[in-house]
Amino acid sequence: MRASEVRQKFFDFFKSKGHVIVASAPMVVKNDPSLMFTNAGMNQFKDIFLGNREPEFLKVADSQKCLRVSGKHNDLEEVGHDTYHHTMFEMLGNWSFGDYFKNEAIDWAWEFLTGELRIDKDRLYATVFEGDEKDEVDRDNEAAERWKNYLPDDHIINGNKKDNFWEMGDVGPCGPCSEIHIDLRSDDEIAQTPGSELVNKDHPEVIEIWNLVFIQYNRKADGKLTSLPQKHVDTGMGFERLCRVLQKKKSNYDTDVFQPIIQQIASLTDVKYGASDDSDIAMRVIADHIRTIAFSITDGQLPSNNKAGYVIRRILRRAVRYAYTFLEVRKPFLSGLLPALIETMGDAYPELKAQKGLIDKVIHEEEESFLKTLATGIALLDKIIDETLQKNYTVVDGKVAFELYDTFGFPLDLTELILSEKDLVVNRKEFETEMEAQKARARNAASVETGDWVVLKDDNEEEFVGYDFCETEVFITRYRKV
Ligand code: ATP
Ligand code: MG
Ligand code: MG
Ligand code: MG
Repeated sequence: MRASEVRQKFFDFFKSKGHVIVASAPMVVKNDPSLMFTNAGMNQFKDIFLGNREPEFLKVADSQKCLRVSGKHNDLEEVGHDTYHHTMFEMLGNWSFGDYFKNEAIDWAWEFLTGELRIDKDRLYATVFEGDEKDEVDRDNEAAERWKNYLPDDHIINGNKKDNFWEMGDVGPCGPCSEIHIDLRSDDEIAQTPGSELVNKDHPEVIEIWNLVFIQYNRKADGKLTSLPQKHVDTGMGFERLCRVLQKKKSNYDTDVFQPIIQQIASLTDVKYGASDDSDIAMRVIADHIRTIAFSITDGQLPSNNKAGYVIRRILRRAVRYAYTFLEVRKPFLSGLLPALIETMGDAYPELKAQKGLIDKVIHEEEESFLKTLATGIALLDKIIDETLQKNYTVVDGKVAFELYDTFGFPLDLTELILSEKDLVVNRKEFETEMEAQKARARNAASVETGDWVVLKDDNEEEFVGYDFCETEVFITRYRKV
């Protein structure tokens, strides 16, 4: 089943259960000091859960563009090395705002996976919250009892607070969650070790696919939980993981969500996917990062030197360096992946098509400017690595990392990534001291900071619809297709 059909089936199914299908919120979050990027489907409904906004519909479903590269959820290190964590991914979700609760959420999740999509029931596991004495919360027997209609006892697993209790923050709405995991190992392997022992243990073939959150408590400032008058359901399912399951692949990257991009990388670099571990990781990282970069730009966040903009710049430079080191790319090539990205996601997210010209231009310029200093920076770093290894040291001077940052545009985490490949680390304290000293120098110089005005026009088919203010203090002139 093609990815686009999977997404459509999800929408159709929940529509048939009375849900209204709503659009994804932008991946870039504005006007919320606690969050730079949308990291879960619930973000756009936060005010409803907090009781600050009335829901327009009581039952909705959507596919939300999420990014997990900062804050509470940061999966950056996993990306490309494992087969199922991405920086940007789609989270399919269904929601009840004070309408249905646990029973329907569980029944429909089961019906969708095993009825509609015909996933093998024997391979599914459900986790339920085991309870917590300190919070005076019992095991989630309601969820467990409902699962008993579908699963044998040894497929219903108790889970701890970390995995099975969701909280928005120190105070506010929260509640237990029940997750669906799937065991994709061979029958032989399953006969040797039951899947129940591998759930939530980072096994690459026993993975979490769907989280059903039951928002039923409110945590007060004194830490105590009270029951909410209105109970809500908030679910999130990894779209790329679901596609992998349905397409019977070993990795999310082998599905039609990623393969066109990976094949385009292969053809542009003349390196086959499968040629070596290093080049495969590089291709997966690049295929992942191009999505993040492109969607950030369409959603109003250009690469820049601060906050969310710097997160995107770091990701872009990380992709460029993987291409440089492992695929021998010496010229800008990332924007050459846009046609493949548009092929895989352009129908579901037309903003990609509408803003292709903008994305192309921004990526090309960023890449070109970083490539100018990358080779010299890498040569310097290689020399430092050799010297450090020769001395049998494991820590690299923070001043070197700062020079790489300041002169060659290497974000600290990029330097750290390159060093970690040789089991070396940076003296962060020294790096930070250098950074502080530079900031002080800048303040003393009393430089006047000005925001940049970026006026970019895509093509003639678009009309100007107004200015948009971004966190980076960059103004983007927005155009809408006519
Ligand atoms: P995991 O334990 O695998 O890291 P999670 O518990 O952090 O996942 P949730 O916050 O429960 O994830 O998000 C809901 C669903 O979103 C998960 O069940 C999973 O299918 C999907 N998901 C989470 N993180 C990622 C990611 N980085 N890339 C792709 N899909 C993800
Ligand atoms: Mg996680
Ligand atoms: Mg988890
Ligand atoms: Mg989870």
